[in-house]
Amino acid sequence: MAKPKVAFYWNASCGGCEEAVVDLAEDILTVVDAVEFVLWPVAMDFKREDVEALDDGEIAVAFLNGSVRTSEQEDWARLLRRKAGLVVAFGSCAHLGGIPGLANFSNREGVFEASYGYLPSVDNPEGVVPQTETKVKEGTLELPEIYDTVYALDQVVDVDYYLPGCAPPADLILDAVNAILSGELPPKGTVLAPTKSLCDECDRNESKPDKIEISELKRPHQTMIDPEKCFLAEGIICMGPATRAGCGERCINANMPCRGCFGPTDEVRDQSAKFLSALASVLDVDEPEEMERLSESIPDVTGLFAMYSLPVTLLKRRKLEK
Ligand code: SF4
Ligand code: SF4
Ligand code: SF4
Repeated sequence: MAKPKVAFYWNASCGGCEEAVVDLAEDILTVVDAVEFVLWPVAMDFKREDVEALDDGEIAVAFLNGSVRTSEQEDWARLLRRKAGLVVAFGSCAHLGGIPGLANFSNREGVFEASYGYLPSVDNPEGVVPQTETKVKEGTLELPEIYDTVYALDQVVDVDYYLPGCAPPADLILDAVNAILSGELPPKGTVLAPTKSLCDECDRNESKPDKIEISELKRPHQTMIDPEKCFLAEGIICMGPATRAGCGERCINANMPCRGCFGPTDEVRDQSAKFLSALASVLDVDEPEEMERLSESIPDVTGLFAMYSLPVTLLKRRKLEK
């Protein structure tokens, strides 16, 4: 019997999600044995024409990591959507927009001004920025268009399943691959991770007092962090109440607070708003001035609460100038 065809592709990605596949260690051999790879740019030399030559729907499943921020990435996402029976948004960037999605606080012009202009490591006296077309004596060179807005994968193409995490942990990847290979699939649209919150799985939950009252917010580097105590109860922002479980409490176990890379649970529409509401309920402040002092102690509140999810929040992006 022919093996199911599988594609891995990366859009606006740091490459960490590709590393996560390699993290399957010897289990990857079981996967390699069970499937036929038809696209995996980080590991194998397939060309776009190879994918175009496949029948529509011929690929059993395409795993796409990275957000979508260029015309080329949108094009690949559409091509793989057409060629694959199932599309899985792999990792926070594809699932929620991820870290690249923070560029939605600016636009293409602002991103270029920073990346090719004022950042300390840039030396670009002529102010050269990427162009979609550049004339040289041999002809015209073309580059993909960079968009003003960064998109999560399902804002561009229909997505069947989501594997959360920056990057998704090996056990969830393996469970997803096994579910797909066995055909025992949950309903379309499922996030392939537990439906409870990180706090529900966190060992530090029991250290929480009956009533949390925070009158001061501290950043991790401003205090000695007690490795046994709940971050939030200690006044350190931890996104656990608004974040899906399933990562193995990777940051908590490293004595760092959660930043929300698994996204919200099924019941929550906007992770940042959910966290804001959870935080507001434990703040012990009465006067507006006290509230102002507290909010000023967190630089870039929206960037912190929507660190992985800005493109899919209700806000989505900063308003573009007309
Ligand atoms: S989800 Fe994380 S590891 Fe994966 S591409 Fe995005 S930034 Fe990299
Ligand atoms: S807020 Fe953070 S540290 Fe506290 S229980 Fe939740 S996940 Fe754990
Ligand atoms: S603790 Fe939070 S930020 Fe860290 S891996 Fe888990 S979900 Fe992601």
